Amino acid sequence: MSNNLLKTAALHLKKAVPLMLKHNIPTTPTNYALWYAYVSESNPKLNLALDENIKLNQQYSPVSSELLYRQHIADPVELDVRSMRQNLDAMVCELSQSIKDTHHDTSTFQSQIQKNVRKLTEFENQDFSLEQLVTVVRSIVKESAHIQSSSDSFTEQLNKAQSEIDTLKQKLAKTEKDVLYDALTETLNRRAFNDDINAVIAQSSQGCCLIMADIDNFKEFNDTYGHQLGDLVLKVVAKRLQESCREGVKLYRFGGEEFAIIVPNSQLRIARQLAEAMRRSIEKLSVKDRRSDTRIDNINASFGVVQWQEKQTTSQLIEAADQLLYQAKRLGRNRVMPMAH
Ligand code: GH3
Ligand code: MG
Ligand code: MG
Repeated sequence: MSNNLLKTAALHLKKAVPLMLKHNIPTTPTNYALWYAYVSESNPKLNLALDENIKLNQQYSPVSSELLYRQHIADPVELDVRSMRQNLDAMVCELSQSIKDTHHDTSTFQSQIQKNVRKLTEFENQDFSLEQLVTVVRSIVKESAHIQSSSDSFTEQLNKAQSEIDTLKQKLAKTEKDVLYDALTETLNRRAFNDDINAVIAQSSQGCCLIMADIDNFKEFNDTYGHQLGDLVLKVVAKRLQESCREGVKLYRFGGEEFAIIVPNSQLRIARQLAEAMRRSIEKLSVKDRRSDTRIDNINASFGVVQWQEKQTTSQLIEAADQLLYQAKRLGRNRVMPMAH
């Protein structure tokens, strides 16, 4: 720093510091930068804004001083980048980073002031009441140390907030998962099916099959034994279907008493065999009705099996499986269509 520059800096400091004390403004690096700019009168808009701010608030407001700093002093490119970080993670990251920066800035600020104090003492100028100035600056140094300890407790609060955010994130993840599952049968639901089907087809280089399964005469079943037992049967059937699903095969509750099974990387013959195994395991089911103390073992389901054809849309694929399921019902239920050759 040349002597002239140092002289100007000292003048500005001499003006800025008492102003800051007068308005009870904490000597953070941000505020120091603001008030230094203020007294140097290098930025008329900032001066207007600061005058306005003090008039309006009657006292110092940390939020508005940060805003003023951003508007008038901080690098606009840096601000643009900052405003892009909009998601939660980035926000938390930024906050903890800014705490670290505060620590860093505060100590840099302190050593800068100490340097200034040394230089000012060497500086000969009758206009300065150096003793007075040095006292003021020393009090700033003291205050900076205080700021550091208060930002320690802020860090603690921040850590607490961080762990709350983590808990919320976990809850959110669980809710997101719940959205994809059917509450009664605990299988994946129709929404999950819609989410998955296209991706599974795209990843199945060896062909992809869809099985549609529908419980036979379920309405009659409900009418005879009641809705509650109907619910139990739905659960038991879903469990059986799930047990038949080898690795990679996924079961979905598609609607009321209808299930969809996606069989990746397989030809029709294999998927058909799987449907046949499922049909047999449901046929063997037996559920006890406590109300009438009878054993119910006439639970059956019908199946339609299709292999995805090149360029076929999801709804065309489902439609084709439904057609075969309908045929299975028409031919007497409790069967898999197409028939084995
Ligand atoms: P089909 O063999 O032709 O499939 O005859 P169905 O009686 O099974 O078919 P329909 O579509 O006429 O009736 C389906 C029944 O499934 C009607 C509805 O009460 C019952 N259902 C759908 N969802 C549930 C459920 O969550 N719980 C119970 N208990 N019943 C359900
Ligand atoms: Mg049915
Ligand atoms: Mg049905």
